Amino acid sequence: MNRVFRSKLVLLALLGGTFAPYALADSETAPARDPKQPVDAAYTEKIHKYTTQPYFTSPLVDYLPASKTVPTPQAVLGDISGAPGILPYAEDVYKYMRLLEKATPRVKVFSIGKTEEGREMIAVAVSSEENIKNLEENRARLAKLADPRTIKLDDAEADKLVAQVVPIYYITGTIHSPETGAPTALMELAYRLAVDESPYIKEIRDGTITLITPVVEVDGRDRMVDIYKWHLAHPKQFFPWLVYWGKYVAHDNNRDAMGVTLKLTENVLKTYVGWKAQVLHDLHESVPYLYDNTIGDEPYNAWIDPILADEWQIIGWNNVSAMTKFGMPGVFAHGDFDTWSPGYLMFMAAMHNGISRLYETFGNGGADTEERTLQPEEYARTWYRQNPPLPKVLWSQRDNNNYEETGLLTSLHFFNENKRMFLKNFYLKAKRSTMKPTAEGPAAYVLPADEPRPGLQAELLQVLQKQAVEISRAKSAFTVTLAAKKPKKSTKDKDKKEDKAEPPAPTTREFPAGSYIVRMDQPYSRIADALLDHQYWSPDDPQKTPYDDTGWTFGELFHVQVTRVTDTRVLDVPMDRVSEVRAPGWVKGDGAVFAINNNAEPALATLRYKLKDAAIDAAEEPFESGGKKFNRGSFLVRNVSRADLDRTASELGVQVTALGNAPSVKTHPVRAARIAFLHTWLSTQTEGWWRLALDKLGIPYDYMSTQAIAKIPDLNAKYDVILFPPVGFNAGVNPVVNGVPTAWGNPLPWKNTPETPNLVGKNDSTDDMRPGLGWDGVGRLQEFVQKGGVLLTATDTSSLGLSLGFADGISAQNGSKMKIVGSVVGTRLVDDSSPIAYGYDEKGAAYCDNGPIFSLSSIAGQRGRRRLGPEMHARPTGRGSSDDPDFTVGRVGVEAPEEPKSETWESPPVMDEQKRNGFRVIPSSLRPRVIFRYADSKDLLISGLVEGGDEIAQHPAVVDAPSGKGHVVLFSINPVYRGETWGTYSMVLNTILNFDNLSAGRKDATEAK
Ligand SMILES: [Zn+2]
Repeated sequence: MNRVFRSKLVLLALLGGTFAPYALADSETAPARDPKQPVDAAYTEKIHKYTTQPYFTSPLVDYLPASKTVPTPQAVLGDISGAPGILPYAEDVYKYMRLLEKATPRVKVFSIGKTEEGREMIAVAVSSEENIKNLEENRARLAKLADPRTIKLDDAEADKLVAQVVPIYYITGTIHSPETGAPTALMELAYRLAVDESPYIKEIRDGTITLITPVVEVDGRDRMVDIYKWHLAHPKQFFPWLVYWGKYVAHDNNRDAMGVTLKLTENVLKTYVGWKAQVLHDLHESVPYLYDNTIGDEPYNAWIDPILADEWQIIGWNNVSAMTKFGMPGVFAHGDFDTWSPGYLMFMAAMHNGISRLYETFGNGGADTEERTLQPEEYARTWYRQNPPLPKVLWSQRDNNNYEETGLLTSLHFFNENKRMFLKNFYLKAKRSTMKPTAEGPAAYVLPADEPRPGLQAELLQVLQKQAVEISRAKSAFTVTLAAKKPKKSTKDKDKKEDKAEPPAPTTREFPAGSYIVRMDQPYSRIADALLDHQYWSPDDPQKTPYDDTGWTFGELFHVQVTRVTDTRVLDVPMDRVSEVRAPGWVKGDGAVFAINNNAEPALATLRYKLKDAAIDAAEEPFESGGKKFNRGSFLVRNVSRADLDRTASELGVQVTALGNAPSVKTHPVRAARIAFLHTWLSTQTEGWWRLALDKLGIPYDYMSTQAIAKIPDLNAKYDVILFPPVGFNAGVNPVVNGVPTAWGNPLPWKNTPETPNLVGKNDSTDDMRPGLGWDGVGRLQEFVQKGGVLLTATDTSSLGLSLGFADGISAQNGSKMKIVGSVVGTRLVDDSSPIAYGYDEKGAAYCDNGPIFSLSSIAGQRGRRRLGPEMHARPTGRGSSDDPDFTVGRVGVEAPEEPKSETWESPPVMDEQKRNGFRVIPSSLRPRVIFRYADSKDLLISGLVEGGDEIAQHPAVVDAPSGKGHVVLFSINPVYRGETWGTYSMVLNTILNFDNLSAGRKDATEAK
């Protein structure tokens, strides 16, 4: 036991508590300060002052080493890291990191990109002077381990490199803006790593490069600091909640590692992959006091290398063990986080052959020191939490910083001590990724050159390229053998005798030249495989509460063909690497009418808005011209110069055919609708994904709150379409209409003031976030639709709109046993002549998160009931067999009239009794029109978890409900979500473009059925 800390009397006095004796493994370095290095006494004293209990710190962070040349965080903060009342803006954090860079050759700051609002993101490298000097040479060596093809998969060569290289441990802070502790912890951590001469820290510094992005969500950080400052200036008042974090989304910024749509994701991914880092460790705050949730709970993501699962355990349990030995309560792993979804920021490492890690520490959402009371389940001792948190404590930001820094330092030290193993693993994981075709398969994914949706295909491939996946193109046509597909078993076939027919034979498929091949013999094959493959979450899985989405298959959600090929001959096809994937766009042929086939590609809407003066019509029927087939909804463009159209088409990847004559087919104009985009002040995240999609597509809209729209007297004069995307949180009538109670409390402004210069950014503002849509607003929306406007709602706003009576003949229910947790489900086209369906095929896929379940009714004002299957009408107990008629003794039998039949998605037929004085019977031409429905039960699950799917199977998924002169278009699916659902965007865009002709193609019987 060679513990040397507390050698100075002054420090002993400061310490107050004592630490339990720390048991060390053989040759392990003690976590203790260097007695020869002086401490910064004033700083150290404050550490103790702000730490609320002696057991909320550790021998690693209960002092600060002094330096004559290197400034401490106090230089910028005015107090120490974790001091009450101090929350630095990102630029203050950067300022400090750059002071460090100036003061010591052990620190180097890199700019890694900008946010949506133009703020800088940085990465700070801290290591020994020598390591910092040799960053580039080291990176070159790491690159060889990262791509074993460069050393011909030679393990001996890898071992040589492993012995030489310095590994990189990448730490990212405060992606979630209300989780405020990381920046100050990371400022102090950088200082300690640069300055501390204790053997424990020196080993980390000499052996590992610590890379730090102290603020990931920079826009959100600055808003959060604003709110905290406002709170300090108005200490007796309630403060506004952080309704915007980044420009587009809030908490979901940590669900973007699949689609890579946000700048922060792109910047961190580029840094992680570019530096060839081994670990990505993301800092969060929620549960007490430190939860290493990477080890998590089942099910584990199916595409990770099992080596990684072991690494999670090895590092995570060491972490728990080290901190437990310090006597710090509430440090644990496991818990209730499953590692199924690869959408988390940290998971970039898991999918790129590194190690993903994540801490939840305990934050106060600001820098106030506060009494915190836990729930019984939070302070209970469990098998994985032997030293649980305390039921009630005074908790400070300093306590949080102590936990974050102690966890990170013990992790860094353990990682450094075992770095040769981790580096070898890094190589092995990359090697095993490269060997995927012959190991577990598949050999490749193929995206055919004759894809009818080249624009969507390019979008998907561009996501893969952002993920650092290599894409190739076949130079000639080729044929592969496809694995035999097992026939789908219907659940009803269970009782049937086992079919003893021949097993299905494998088939072959020919792909044309120019088809895209995503080879699986590359180091980052894992992420491509995870995104393109199908997911299955068993309803019997012991994990009953999936942490996030359970399915995401990108080919399905992008509505493009992706073929999983196990035949390794695909790798021998002559092919070229593609540097940039772009959908080809052109104008071909001769003539004055330009036709664009409609395959539900979002670029068509972009083109409509870009060519402002062009006259565009949609063909209401399919047609053929010049030997080419055009789908229903195809564009006929006039009044545009060929040169303009050519430029726009090539920019957007749209293929235009010039026709000699306009086809003789019924058409209607496609106009650039004036769009109002509605948000609440309750939550802006789920709609944020819609904004992001529209911005990317160049579709203009006026963004406004429910408060603002209620004040516009004549909505129809200004707008054609109102989009009311999902609220995602608490979207009931009361919160949306009435808002947050104003009968007490103070106004909660969301506006720029001297204390809050960053709040508004590029979004919206209000004097008081509390008021909702109000009943006036409800009236305005109602009037807008009645007078001919189109209101589009999805998921929770659909339920809301129905509760408010915006449409009749349709109702929404929640499932009783149904569990569809962020899954990809099958859809079917019901009414192909509706403009909303233009370009879509009979079979499709969509993102669904538990509905709502729509049911139609033919009777106005009837509370819809989820319609059950035919078993409702089974015969009663009586004579005969199950399909015989019953009889009545002493009476001649009568034949019951045949019950009118209808499909689950249809309006039920009007019964004779309902027709008597049937003033409530909705004429069939005014009934809701079902455009898409959910697939049959057996075809419902495409990817993810579908349990109790019978409840929603066959029910309407997208409905166009006429109301007055206008329409309410209701989605049960969420068509625009996390940049992952490109295939369903056009359902929304079609509604927008055909706003004044939505009833086109409507087939209605003149009489009610
Ligand atoms: Zn978080």
